[in-house]
Amino acid sequence: MEPGPVRQTTVLLRLLLFVVVAWIVITAMRAYLVARKSSTRNPNLAKPRGEEMVLDPQCQSYVPKSEALLRKGNYYCSEKCAALHLTG
Ligand SMILES: [Zn+2]
Repeated sequence: MEPGPVRQTTVLLRLLLFVVVAWIVITAMRAYLVARKSSTRNPNLAKPRGEEMVLDPQCQSYVPKSEALLRKGNYYCSEKCAALHLTG
């Protein structure tokens, strides 16, 4: 009977548990603070500031202008939509 190693394992497990709990609390607090900060700063805009949304006339979905493809004056979400719309 050697209680030494068993006790050490228990201490390690407790330490590990403490670290995990602390990490979860810190992560949750950070997420809460970030959400609060962004919601108070820009209550009406969920999107990043300055990001303009454009309508894809093919699939009728809005895409960020920076990610949209410009083909003959229209913005598309993908090459596939552009090709489909332009060919009819
Ligand atoms: Zn599309």
